[in-house]
Amino acid sequence: MMNMSNSLVWFRRDLRAFDHAALHQALTSSNRVHCVFVYDSGILDPLPRDDRRVRFIHASIASLDAELRRLGGFLIVRQGRPLEVIPALAAGLGVDAVLVCTDYEPEAVERDAQMARQLAADGRKFVKLKDQVIFEQDEVLTLAKGPFSVFTPYKNAWLKRLAAMPETLASYPVDPFADAFAAPPSTSPALPSLAEIGFEPGEPPLPAGMEGAETLFEAFVAHIADYGRARDFPSEDGTSRLSTHLRFGTTSIRHLVRTARQMIDNGAGGTGASVWLSELIWRDFYSMILARNPHVVSRSFKPAFDALAWDEDEELFAAWCEGRTGYPLVDAAMAQLNQTGFMHNRLRMVTASFLTKDLGVDWRRGERYFALQLNDYELASNNGGWQWAASTGCDAQPWFRIFNPVTQSQRFDAHGDFIREWVPALKLLSAKEIHAPWLMAESVLAEKGVVLGRDYPEPVVEHDAARKRTLERFAVVKKAVG
Ligand SMILES: Cc1cc2nc3c(=O)[nH]c(=O)nc-3n(C[C@H](O)[C@H](O)[C@H](O)COP(=O)(O)OP(=O)(O)OC[C@H]3O[C@@H](n4cnc5c(N)ncnc54)[C@H](O)[C@@H]3O)c2cc1C
Repeated sequence: MMNMSNSLVWFRRDLRAFDHAALHQALTSSNRVHCVFVYDSGILDPLPRDDRRVRFIHASIASLDAELRRLGGFLIVRQGRPLEVIPALAAGLGVDAVLVCTDYEPEAVERDAQMARQLAADGRKFVKLKDQVIFEQDEVLTLAKGPFSVFTPYKNAWLKRLAAMPETLASYPVDPFADAFAAPPSTSPALPSLAEIGFEPGEPPLPAGMEGAETLFEAFVAHIADYGRARDFPSEDGTSRLSTHLRFGTTSIRHLVRTARQMIDNGAGGTGASVWLSELIWRDFYSMILARNPHVVSRSFKPAFDALAWDEDEELFAAWCEGRTGYPLVDAAMAQLNQTGFMHNRLRMVTASFLTKDLGVDWRRGERYFALQLNDYELASNNGGWQWAASTGCDAQPWFRIFNPVTQSQRFDAHGDFIREWVPALKLLSAKEIHAPWLMAESVLAEKGVVLGRDYPEPVVEHDAARKRTLERFAVVKKAVG
C-alpha cells in the first residue's frame, strides 16, 4: 500500500462517494484527502448552452458535494483546463499525489499521460485505479493470450474469470475511513450555478446523482425477471435506464454486477437477471475494443470496410436527424432522441441501420449525431453500436442482413403505441395501418387527418430499392470478408 500524507482525488466520470476505487485508496493511504471536480472548458465550450448532460452533471455534483460533506469532507469545484487547474491546485494544497479512476477513451488517456508527466515534474504522483469496468482491456484474454473480437466467447471468459476472482466485485468502502477528509473551510464558496459555468438553467433530463441512480435501480430490480422479454419493446418500461448513471459514475458497476449476480444465484432474478448481466458485459467488451483498437474512433474496426463509398446526401441526412423519413418507427425514435436525449436500444439499432443501409450515409455521421444528442453518450458503446449496425465492427451484424424498418415496427411496436406517443400526426391510425401509412388509400388516410407530404412525410426512400443499393455498395468488401 502507498503512503501519502496528503492527497487529491480528482473526480471525472465517477461522481459518487461510495464504492469508489480512487477515494477509497486515498482515504486508506493518506492523512488528508481533498476532492475536486473540474468543469473542463475544452469539453464544455463547444456544447449548446442548454445541453442536457451538463444539467445532469451539475445536479450530480451537488449530490456528490452533499454526500462528501455528510462524511466530513467537501468538493472543490473549478472551471478551466484540467492540465492547468489540477497541477496548480495540487501545488497549492501541497499534496503528494493526485488519484483518479482510469478513463479509457483515447483523448483522456493522452490527457492523463500528460498530467502524469506534469505532476511528476513537480515531484507528485499520479495514480490511476480501475473503477469504471469490471475487467480492463488486458484482463480477459483468449487461450493464446490475445484479445477477443467476438462477444460470446469474450462473455464466457469474462464470467469464468469472475468466478475465479470473486474479489473483483468487492466494494471500495468510503465511510469507515472518512476521518481523513480535509474538512470544509468555514467560508467555503457555494457550488457554481449553471449560469456561472455559462449554461442556461434547467432541470436534468432524469433524476441525477447517487439517489437518482439508486431509485432507478430499485425500481428496475422489482421487474428484472421480465427483462429478457420486455427489453425489446420501446413502449414498455422494460430496461433499467441506468446508462447515463453508468456514464457519469453516479452508480458503481460493481454494485450493479454484485446485485445481478446475487439475484442469479438465489433465483430471484429469473432469466432476466442473466440477460441484463450480459448487457453489462457488452459494456466491458466495447470498452476493451476501444482501448485496444483506438483506430475505431475514425475508421472501421475491420480495415476492409474502409473501402466502402457512402452517399453524401445532405437532404436525406437532415430528414433522418429531424425524424421526417416517412418511416414511422424511425421518426418516432428520432423524436424521442431529440426531445429527451434517450433512445431505446432496439431503436438505436433500427435507426442506425436505417441511416447506413437504407439511406447509405456514413455511420460516422450518425455516430456524431448520437454523440451530440444522447444523455448517456459514451464513445466506446456508441462507436461499438454504430459499427455493429453498419456491419463495419467486430462481431457486427453481417453486411447482407438489413433490417426492414416496417417489419421491425410490426414486431417491436405491434400496437403502434410508441409511434403514437412520438408522432402525434399518426395517432388515429390503427395498429395495422400505422407502420406503413403510404400503403393506405388516400381517402382513408384523410379521414384520419393525414395527407402525406402535408401532415406526415412520404417515405424518403423505397426500402427494397435501398436494400439492393446497399448490397451493391457492400460488394467491395465481399471478397475480403466473405
Ligand atoms: C447505435 C447504438 C448506439 C449506442 N450508443 C450508446 C451510448 O452512447 N452509450 C451507452 O451507454 N450505450 C449505447 N448503446 C447501447 C444501448 O443502446 C444503451 O446502453 C441502452 O439502450 C441504455 O438503456 P438502459 O440503461 O435502459 O439499458 P439496459 O438494457 O438496462 O442495460 C443496462 C446497461 O448495460 C449497458 N448496455 C446495454 N446494452 C449495451 C450495448 N449494446 N453495448 C454496450 N453497453 C450496453 C449500458 O450501460 C446499460 O445502461 C448504443 C447502442 C446502439 C445500437
